[in-house]
Amino acid sequence: MIPAEFQYATPPTIPEAIALLQAHQDAKILSGGQSLIPALKLRLATPPLLVDISRIAGLTTLSEAGGWLHIGALVREADLEESPLVRSRYPLLHDTSHVVADPLVRNLATIAGNLAHADPANDHPATMLAYRAEVVATGPSGARVIAVDSFFTGLFATALAHDEILTEVRVPAPMAGSGGAYLKLERKVGDFATAGVAAQLNLDAAGRVQQIGIGLTNVGPMAIRARRSEDVLRGQSPSDALIAQAAALAQEDCDPTADLRGSADYKRNMVRILTMRALHKALERARA
Ligand SMILES: Cc1cc2nc3c(=O)[nH]c(=O)nc-3n(C[C@H](O)[C@H](O)[C@H](O)COP(=O)(O)OP(=O)(O)OC[C@H]3O[C@@H](n4cnc5c(N)ncnc54)[C@H](O)[C@@H]3O)c2cc1C
Repeated sequence: MIPAEFQYATPPTIPEAIALLQAHQDAKILSGGQSLIPALKLRLATPPLLVDISRIAGLTTLSEAGGWLHIGALVREADLEESPLVRSRYPLLHDTSHVVADPLVRNLATIAGNLAHADPANDHPATMLAYRAEVVATGPSGARVIAVDSFFTGLFATALAHDEILTEVRVPAPMAGSGGAYLKLERKVGDFATAGVAAQLNLDAAGRVQQIGIGLTNVGPMAIRARRSEDVLRGQSPSDALIAQAAALAQEDCDPTADLRGSADYKRNMVRILTMRALHKALERARA
């Protein structure tokens, strides 16, 4: 289909973009366009104005500073995939970018857009929950930091106000003994997840789990943090039995619906299997 008619603006600065959003209540931010353009073509969205932020300078940072990996709003999936820093120090993030869609989409899609879109089928929300990431929202009264735990508020819904731009994603720098992994079941390469699991943990000198995060993709109305599974492993030496127990709790705590990708029971079972595998892989990497 052809999108409905819309106006198009390319503000050169963040304040100008915010001013446009304030002046037009139904305007939409356009970034990589990989979710918004399909929605426009299907007329699921018919905004009268698109505020294209892709020409704003200063939003392509991808670097570590002050204990965080800073990911600017215009950093694209391909940037993460190709970054030696991300590959070596943030394997969970690298795994995640690598399985988002296909290379054509990854050349344009931004990580910030992936989170702002808040599609439960998107891969980064679960990963950011596992990392305990933060996002920076910039609006008319300046910037505020939102913990990712409070960022997703429902199906395609976030804590962002209409006139706020997600300007940065911050991932905590890994502590010693850290490892992470993202596993996704997909019908074919490039598909959205039937189910996905993100795991991030670190081990203390005695080999006990110090910090742990587990996020689940596409098995609920929004990405789910598997808190009970985390609690089972925190402070413990991770045995096969504890990992199986954590995985069984993730199976209980997810809330999938049946669709063309499978029944709810099948997806629940896949969450259990993927949680076990993701935890084993994260541990392997933490010990390496
Ligand atoms: C063929 C195909 C396959 C796909 N497969 C996957 C997949 O396997 N996994 C996956 O996770 N995703 C997948 N996607 C979805 C897409 O890759 C992500 O949603 C994408 O990362 C969105 O980012 P974007 O920069 O393209 O956002 P856009 O499409 O430009 O915007 C998406 C939404 O977020 C808002 N937005 C964007 N940037 C900001 C910002 N900085 N601040 C505030 N609001 C903002 C927009 O207003 C819009 O509502 C797929 C898409 C396609 C076309």
